[in-house]
Amino acid sequence: KQTRSNMTKITVAKGDGIGPEIMDATLEIILAAGAEIETEEIEVGEKVYLTGNTSGIAPESWEVIQRNKIFLKAPITTPQGGGYKSLNVTTRKFLGLYSNVRPCMSLHPFVNTKHPVMDIVIVRENEEDLYAGIEHQQTDEVVQCLKLISRPGCEKIVRYAFEYAKQQNRKKVTCFTKDNIMKQTDGLFHQVFNEIAKEYPEIKNEHWIVDIGAAKVAGSPEEFDVLVMPNLYGDIISDIAAEITGSVGLGGSANIGEECAMFEAIHGTAPDIGGKNIANPSGLLQGAIMMLNHIGQTKVAEKIQNAWLATLEQGTHTSDIYTAGKSKTKVGTREFAKAVIANL
Ligand code: ATP
Ligand code: MG
Repeated sequence: KQTRSNMTKITVAKGDGIGPEIMDATLEIILAAGAEIETEEIEVGEKVYLTGNTSGIAPESWEVIQRNKIFLKAPITTPQGGGYKSLNVTTRKFLGLYSNVRPCMSLHPFVNTKHPVMDIVIVRENEEDLYAGIEHQQTDEVVQCLKLISRPGCEKIVRYAFEYAKQQNRKKVTCFTKDNIMKQTDGLFHQVFNEIAKEYPEIKNEHWIVDIGAAKVAGSPEEFDVLVMPNLYGDIISDIAAEITGSVGLGGSANIGEECAMFEAIHGTAPDIGGKNIANPSGLLQGAIMMLNHIGQTKVAEKIQNAWLATLEQGTHTSDIYTAGKSKTKVGTREFAKAVIANL
């Protein structure tokens, strides 16, 4: 096959549960929109774990991911027990994906939500903090977990948040820490935030102590724009934020590193509805749109986003967001994809 020079090669993994059907729908939409990508598929997850491979991925697939650098991944099952390692965690660590970006947007009035004006993006540090995995037993009765925060780590993530805000034309970046208690670790994060914020005078900046900040996100998310925070707080607050948009099936996320990046839906494999053509492909589609923006195909990304919004506005809804009165047509995964393509 010939590769046109402007084609970006991406690695694709269809995953488990609803993974294959939402990936097929997503690829169909983005290719119909004219995304200049060529896909290379790898096998990961359940089938690979069941061969006795505890990492869920073959070494040669790992090479494909590293070679192509851009990875679009459907949800994957990690079997319980038996020393199986989560491929999500391994990928983040091995590829150095230091930044986890999760937009949380309400789609009022088309999708039910408690917060009609919510459009925030959480930028979570993804490698350090209490998740660095440095834990040990001190005595029979005392265990310890080390909170690791480095200046280079803070600089990378804070700069990423401001650059993202600039590129996406957003107005404010908010930092959450608990530096009134953890003066050194969270203190460093806050200090680096203040330093880097000065380089972006056109973007507003503010800092909240994470507890009151989290309460404000839950109560009045319309006050926030881009948020940046250490790993643990980011993990918790990004789930709360996704949940209160009213649409866990609609969210995508990006994991960004210096060289590689991985894009996905925020939900899991939903095995209860796998293979039934009823899953909502929107979360993975949102991940794919972030991917296209990341590789510079911003025009096509915008075109897909608009077609997707138009489809939701027309009331063409999958069953997870179907609401009597608001929705017009209940569709399956494939029919939803066709409707988005018709709107391109
Ligand atoms: P995993 O173990 O992989 O996390 P899970 O059982 O926790 O899988 P999730 O995907 O996290 O499942 O979602 C929980 C429930 O939300 C699912 O059982 C499903 O009913 C619903 N759900 C999740 N994603 C979607 C989607 N894209 N479309 C429709 N419903 C969804
Ligand atoms: Mg789950």
